[in-house]
Amino acid sequence: MLPEIENLLHLQEADKEIRRLQDEIAELPKRVAAIEHKLADTKAQLERAQTAVKADEATRRKHETTITDLRGKISKYRDQSLDVKTNDQYKALLHEIQFAEKEIAATEDKILELMLNAEARDKEVKAAQAELKAEAAEIEKEKADARQRTAEDEKQLTDWRGKRDQMRAGVNEDLLRHYERVSKFRGTGISEVRDHKCMACQVMLRPQTYNDVRTGQQTVVCDSCQRILYFNPANEMQALEPEHKRSRRHHPKIDAPQAWYYRQEFADAGEVFLCLANAGGQASRRVFDMHTGRLFGAILTREGDYRHAFPEDITGAIRLNGSWTERDMENWGTEMPMTALDSLHTDLEAARYEMSSRTSTKSESPAVPTEQAAS
Ligand SMILES: [Zn+2]
Repeated sequence: MLPEIENLLHLQEADKEIRRLQDEIAELPKRVAAIEHKLADTKAQLERAQTAVKADEATRRKHETTITDLRGKISKYRDQSLDVKTNDQYKALLHEIQFAEKEIAATEDKILELMLNAEARDKEVKAAQAELKAEAAEIEKEKADARQRTAEDEKQLTDWRGKRDQMRAGVNEDLLRHYERVSKFRGTGISEVRDHKCMACQVMLRPQTYNDVRTGQQTVVCDSCQRILYFNPANEMQALEPEHKRSRRHHPKIDAPQAWYYRQEFADAGEVFLCLANAGGQASRRVFDMHTGRLFGAILTREGDYRHAFPEDITGAIRLNGSWTERDMENWGTEMPMTALDSLHTDLEAARYEMSSRTSTKSESPAVPTEQAAS
């Protein structure tokens, strides 16, 4: 991995941490404000309950005055009744007394109702008071916590900003500008490549791009999301692992009439895929650039089967799964299609994984799927 890429990874980590801390610092006052809002609600509720209690008490006093007044009237009527001259006058006073007594009874009922209500109101007030007390204590604690957390965050933020500046100094200016532009729009500016994919945008890379990232000799950006790409072989192994644990890689048949191989070096073409085939007592060889899928040179034909005709090509090559008809390959012209190229790349990854896991588990068989010339 290029040291610049490593610096960018650390830079991305610092940027992420700085954003998290800034968000947290911004979030703390909001939390305190939310509790303060709740506290204000409880206060208003308490005030309403207290006002209602006072109003009820006033109503009750008014009713009591009414009763006192009515009792005064009754007593006055009784006094008058002693002095009446006629039966009609007496009846009229008696009627007044009965009316006042009915009024008293009705008012007493209203007072009783208010007394029953008062119990419920009292409970409301007490509950609101208790809640207010608890919330007031909570808000003090929250405020203290928020102050402490903010101070800690600010300190960490200063540390991370220092680290960020240090990392920025270790990245070339153009690359840094690119990283920051993409970060600004996409949240991150660098992405890992796994299993031929940009892990950030999940788009498959072209074989050439993938290879450039793998070799790690130059900085490469994702065609789709513009993030700077990097490759971590350890993660690539993990990414491949579950698939290969589920089903072992299918092994190509040794006597197949067509065989595909990967060679790291071929003449001056570099990495290639070879297709060797037997047909009508003759062996043919096609060579494809592994990154572009382009046919390299002419199709070569020799007498006999390919194992005897092209032993130098088979030795040290990695045998791959692949089978296309002669007619298919004629239709390809000078470039194999992406689907074929991808399937060879995928199988090569699987073969490499198989080789590495065999080496690491020290299996009894040295079964590295490179081939020796069979003679
Ligand atoms: Zn991408």
